[in-house]
Amino acid sequence: MKYIFVTGGVVSSLGKGLAAASIGALLEHRGHKVMIQKFDPYLNVDPGTMSPYQHGEVYVLDDGAETDLDLGHYERFTSGKLSRLNSLSSGQVFETVIRNEREGKYLGATVQYIPHVTDEIQKRLFDVTEANPDVDILITEIGGTVGDIEGTLFLEALRQFALEVGRENVCFIHVTLLPLVKAAGEIKTKPTQQSVAKLREIGIQPDIIICRTEHDLDEDNRRKIAMFCNVEKKNVVAFRDVENTIYQCPLDLRRDKIDRLVVDRLGMSESPTPDLKDWESFVDRVVQPEHSVDIAVVGKYIELQDAYKSIYESLTHAGASNNTRVNVIRVDAEAVEEHGAEKVIGTVDGILIPGGFGDRGIEGKIATARHARENNIPYFGICLGMQIATIEFARHVCEITAATSTEFDKEANEPVICLQEEQKGIRDMGASMRLGLQKSIVYPDTKAAEIYNNATEIFERHRHRWEFNPDYLDRLQEGGLVISAVSANEGLVEIIELPKHPFFIAAQYHPEFLSKPNFPHPLFHAFVSASLIAKGVAATQAS
Ligand code: GLN
Repeated sequence: MKYIFVTGGVVSSLGKGLAAASIGALLEHRGHKVMIQKFDPYLNVDPGTMSPYQHGEVYVLDDGAETDLDLGHYERFTSGKLSRLNSLSSGQVFETVIRNEREGKYLGATVQYIPHVTDEIQKRLFDVTEANPDVDILITEIGGTVGDIEGTLFLEALRQFALEVGRENVCFIHVTLLPLVKAAGEIKTKPTQQSVAKLREIGIQPDIIICRTEHDLDEDNRRKIAMFCNVEKKNVVAFRDVENTIYQCPLDLRRDKIDRLVVDRLGMSESPTPDLKDWESFVDRVVQPEHSVDIAVVGKYIELQDAYKSIYESLTHAGASNNTRVNVIRVDAEAVEEHGAEKVIGTVDGILIPGGFGDRGIEGKIATARHARENNIPYFGICLGMQIATIEFARHVCEITAATSTEFDKEANEPVICLQEEQKGIRDMGASMRLGLQKSIVYPDTKAAEIYNNATEIFERHRHRWEFNPDYLDRLQEGGLVISAVSANEGLVEIIELPKHPFFIAAQYHPEFLSKPNFPHPLFHAFVSASLIAKGVAATQAS
């Protein structure tokens, strides 16, 4: 196994995750088996408990691990399927060390940051290596910025680890920022020099420096960075701001041959030049598609760029497969609540309601689903968006006017969405989430079956607590709602659809976690196609 560690310097939000994902994509296109993972120095055990304001989206893996959104980039850019082993936080490390101490596992030793905490971090690297014998290259991104107190233990652990596995098997890549000082009209390399100095203080000499810059990186600056940071000039790589799509990142990094530098450094020089034709054609279709559609995404955290990351990425993938630019119109559900759907959303080609928790903006979302249903606008509901569609249908079609979810009203008289425990009459509600990949059965002769290419079994990732209440099944079905899929284990409703509507489909799971650039999720693809048709363009299936 060869190891790449990606650290960051100067400022946060440098796009380290995208750099790691892009390197992974390039190496995979060279034929290597790659896995990318993240070490986060914060003390939360996982991001599942963090507000989207703090952390953006929580990305869910097959095994139900709730992880950082960067893992979404890793899975979209490479084919490696990740597990909870691939996401480590200080919270997990300390939790384990303290539990070990309480269990007497350190045999009376004084428990210390070094070696006990650093050993625990290294152990994770060995565990991942052991669990993935077919992987050739393990890329680990270290969250945060070099110089942060909380990151120091991770860096120390990596220094020791490189000694342990042999420095020739490790490539340290440091991502930094080259700011432009406008008044002087100059790009400045000093912050980069200083952050590399900080790394070297810990004992880590980076092999490659990736410089985020808005402009071209000239020879002078490359030379300066090389000299002060003690790397070869060719190992100073420019990473310009991409204009159109993040999927350009691998192509951009390839200009300075990052993948070649990495394989040379790791002694894997025999690997062939990557064949990026598929990737390039995907990027072309994203950048210069023939058609466009306007899709309103109606949510609660709409102002946050990162809160619905995977949804936006999935729309991009489905846009490319439909040769269509998806213009996302972000709509705040509370604005709909205040001014009405007609005024705030009006005519769009499609409406998507993503997942969410809590009751803020709920009435706005219900009004949105009604607007889509009554005006024949394609509607795609995801998780909460499916529960909303169910409530809307119950209220306005089946005349169950008090229909709601017990998430919004604990004393609901008409709980069309409720906790399974409540449904079973259990009072003590542990109410743990349904998380991770689960099997569903798709019913034939439904739109969903058609979209899934007549598959009878599908596997999708979940992250939710509340469920469609089976007590209302008959009444809603009588009203015209079609249940098109149920969970294999408990028969819980997984997909609903309206057969008379051009496209009204909602899923209890999260299809956005399984969409990839050249493999758009079928539901997203079908939704964008339907939006095109709604706009009057016959859907084109790009090859
Ligand atoms: N709040 C809802 C539930 O827990 C929906 C969750 C979601 O959309 N991810 O069931």
